[in-house]
Amino acid sequence: MVKAIVGANWGDEGKGKITDMLAESSDMVIRFQGGANAGHTIINNYGRFALHSLPSGVFYPHVTNIVGNGVALNIRSFSEEIKSLEAGGVPAPHIIVSNRAQVVMPYHILFDAYEEERLGGKAFGSTKSGIAPFYSDKYAKIGFQVNELFDDALLKARLKNVCEIKNALLEHLYHKPLLDPEELYQEMVAQRELIAPFVGDTAVAVRAALDAGKQVLLEGQLGTLKDPDFGIYPFVTSSSTLAGYGCVGVGVPPTQFSDVIAVTKAYSSAVGGGDFVSELFGDEAETLRNRGGDKGEYGATTGRPRRVGWFDAVATKYGCRMQGATQAVLTAIDVLGYLDEIKVCVGYEIDGKVETEFPVTSRLDRAKPVFETLPGWKCDIRGITDYNKLPKEARDYVEFIESAIKTPIKMVSTGPKREDIAQRG
Ligand code: GDP
Repeated sequence: MVKAIVGANWGDEGKGKITDMLAESSDMVIRFQGGANAGHTIINNYGRFALHSLPSGVFYPHVTNIVGNGVALNIRSFSEEIKSLEAGGVPAPHIIVSNRAQVVMPYHILFDAYEEERLGGKAFGSTKSGIAPFYSDKYAKIGFQVNELFDDALLKARLKNVCEIKNALLEHLYHKPLLDPEELYQEMVAQRELIAPFVGDTAVAVRAALDAGKQVLLEGQLGTLKDPDFGIYPFVTSSSTLAGYGCVGVGVPPTQFSDVIAVTKAYSSAVGGGDFVSELFGDEAETLRNRGGDKGEYGATTGRPRRVGWFDAVATKYGCRMQGATQAVLTAIDVLGYLDEIKVCVGYEIDGKVETEFPVTSRLDRAKPVFETLPGWKCDIRGITDYNKLPKEARDYVEFIESAIKTPIKMVSTGPKREDIAQRG
């Protein structure tokens, strides 16, 4: 059967840690969407790793790691990560990259940066990893599937065509240097050599694993509120962040899902633009940002400071529901131990009326947070693994959130390490 681990919010909920933990009892771990634009932080016996392209099962020799067809494959970033694992003493992982995955081309990265530059102050806050130009080209049908890199004639002809289109924009819209098809061809030949040992038919591998009754884990990137349809469009990512997209992004049959685990953090954090109703500013934000995560709330890919705020039950209830969550995991509760009182956003006031359903983006900028205030526990709870040993105020906080998001919280993460987890009945 298939379990999916996905984000209920804006990403960075701590999915990497939960995937790394559950990967131990899985046979296959799969990335099915997104690219190298976000990262999962994993801390285990080998050290601290920020994974961008690789599935989080790479630390276990028994796990088959799959990069599905729905992923935006950055071959150079993929190989760098393999090297960083080697350097960290991790045994060579078993990885299969879909022969249908499409490749992030060098010009996708350039166009991402040029477009942000062109937009100036109105930029979306892209990580400039080429993701939006990549998915645009995929759906405009001028992208490159991995298998196509190995067909010389096709590769050359398609590069020539793409360069004509891109060069028109480079010359007239962005006023930047033009692309040279021959130079690009050489680069893609170098990239196909790097990826060749990993390429395979992942849909067949996944099907065989399911037929053999193996445990398959889907690992989502970002979260519901960054989904192009259900998120805060246009401040979203360019591929679906929903568990259901696993059916498309790797070819898992819809009937195979047994569990959808939505990960949510005990406070909110977000990167990029868009309205963030429960956001904190000034000193309050600075303190939470510096205490958050395992090394403060700074992007795993970009190092940029994340926006932080109180837990948003309106966004998270919606986030869990759109994922079809069967359970939630509340992470980083240890971070809040310094607070006398903790606020939770339980409603949005829009035009004088309090609402509890997450609105469309065009109404979101009028939403003011409605808070409930809960007492803090004022002590260090990092590493507690027995839920009943958590202070009463911490348990009350978990239970308050559970009822507000209408999803059972079955695990509470009390620190960044694999073993810092308290299971609940
Ligand atoms: P992901 O993209 O959802 O995997 O999230 P990230 O790894 O980008 O961000 C989560 C951050 O929180 C990382 O720095 C993790 O090490 C850290 N983290 C995860 N769970 C916990 C936890 O329970 N407590 C603390 N303090 N940090 C955590």
